[in-house]
Amino acid sequence: MSADSVRMAVDSQRCIGGGQCEMLEPEVFLVDDDEAVSSVIGSGVLPRARADVVVHRCPGAAVSIVGPES
Ligand code: SF4
Repeated sequence: MSADSVRMAVDSQRCIGGGQCEMLEPEVFLVDDDEAVSSVIGSGVLPRARADVVVHRCPGAAVSIVGPES
């Protein structure tokens, strides 16, 4: 991805399982059906602008940007 891509993380302690992250970016977030907790899947990398949207829409403040892609 581009130089302005960032790596995502989910704090499972904060996640309330609503699935906003998965709805917005299904290739990066997956909510476990049994535990109702999201985790990062695949590359875990998003363009910064899209990463910011997920961070701001997460109702549990569980999504964060870990750092640059590499
Ligand atoms: S948007 Fe936030 S609270 Fe909702 S499932 Fe994703 S990480 Fe969990």
